[in-house]
Amino acid sequence: MKSILPTELESKRLAIAKSHNLLCVYMLALVLGTPLLVIAVFDITHPSLKTGMVALVVAVVVEGLIEAYGLRHIVQRDNELCRQLGYLCPFCHEPLYQSRAATWANGLCPKCRKGIV
Ligand SMILES: [Zn+2]
Repeated sequence: MKSILPTELESKRLAIAKSHNLLCVYMLALVLGTPLLVIAVFDITHPSLKTGMVALVVAVVVEGLIEAYGLRHIVQRDNELCRQLGYLCPFCHEPLYQSRAATWANGLCPKCRKGIV
């Protein structure tokens, strides 16, 4: 489906989306790599079940922290890019980019729902 945004707004949206997607890939790599790293640090060949359980709990907690920090950082970076590039709603002055917003398809601000096209 083709974007209904003017070329200038669409190019800004695509630049922000590209940065957003790249950060998501990095975060996914960290989230998926963390259990492997934690398991490598712990001696998983140790016969004690307790060691394996500690490694599992540490991996889950570290993963959760990375994911929470990563998601927050990605949203902050998206908003920062919106402000730098001027991809802001002319009515409420909030950033127009949200990963799940369909601004490109419906022309509506994801915050105030007013038409920007
Ligand atoms: Zn708005």
